[in-house]
Amino acid sequence: MAIDRFGRNIHYLRISLTDRCNLRCVYCMPEHMIFRPIAEMMQDDELLLLVRLFANLGFDKIRLTGGEPTIRPHLVEIVSKISATPGIRSLSMTTNGMLLSKLARPLKEAGLQRVNVSVDTLDAERFKQLTRWGKLDKVWDGILEAEAVGLTPIKINSVVVRGMNDCDVVDMARLTYDHPWQIRFIEMMPFAGATELQQKQVVTAKEMQQSITSSLGPLEPVHEGVLDGEARIYHLPGAIGEVGFISSVSLPFCAACSRARLTSDGKIRLCLLRENELDLLTPLRHGAGLDDLRQLIVESIWQKPWGHGLAEGEVPLNRIMSEIGG
Ligand code: SAM
Repeated sequence: MAIDRFGRNIHYLRISLTDRCNLRCVYCMPEHMIFRPIAEMMQDDELLLLVRLFANLGFDKIRLTGGEPTIRPHLVEIVSKISATPGIRSLSMTTNGMLLSKLARPLKEAGLQRVNVSVDTLDAERFKQLTRWGKLDKVWDGILEAEAVGLTPIKINSVVVRGMNDCDVVDMARLTYDHPWQIRFIEMMPFAGATELQQKQVVTAKEMQQSITSSLGPLEPVHEGVLDGEARIYHLPGAIGEVGFISSVSLPFCAACSRARLTSDGKIRLCLLRENELDLLTPLRHGAGLDDLRQLIVESIWQKPWGHGLAEGEVPLNRIMSEIGG
């Protein structure tokens, strides 16, 4: 079991399979991004070895992310091997959905259990503006295919940007009347890259909730308001789905954090919004034994920061979001 010095059991690993992406969401990645050389990224055998080590330390929940995980070569084989790793009981993925209509079935057959798909607006034109290269109809087909093959419950991630898609919050919430999906509204967080936009155009969960209740009626807390992962979940009367809010900026959930991240270049990152990282790939490539690597993981988890420092003006600037794995 990996425990941090505050007594939190850290057992949820989010793995960035690649820093590359087939979209360029304005709040995430610059359009002309320069990527690190592939040789600096974890190769399949390195990634799978680290997964076994984490599983051995009690990590039982894995989410694959990026960059865009669906563009990682050999994705289906990687999923199959992770899902067969002893100790892993939950395996999910966060994706932009662009390639999901083709990949959903093979991923499900390989052992993937669920997907979160990022959709910030239901307006095709605004979708293009926000993602720069995205096509809403392709993503929509991907979501329906994911649902058809059983990658459920479907969760939709929607980052809300003032002046761009804050006008879409109500329509996104309305989806829950017709679909048993969880629509999760995310407060925009600041990193390197688009820092100014990320800080100036944040919409708080409270504002989003006000828009929804004034148009659609009261939001009833689900699970008596207790966090479901990182989201606070609500239900609109008459809806078959749920609405969630991830308020990392205005109402952080650090006390309940159980996660660590593995970046695509093999660093363990201890908090999404703190720069602290520890390199696992270099020691692995220099011949460190399994016990040495295990010890490095245990020691780094022990040092996990209590929480982020956004309220004190501390913004992590050593990476952009897509390099960390959101
Ligand atoms: N490419 C995949 C996708 O689009 O879902 C996975 C990686 S993406 C970095 C993971 C999640 O982070 C997405 O839901 C995305 O909308 C969200 N995200 C990206 N930049 C963000 C930011 N600055 N603040 C909050 N969420 C962000």
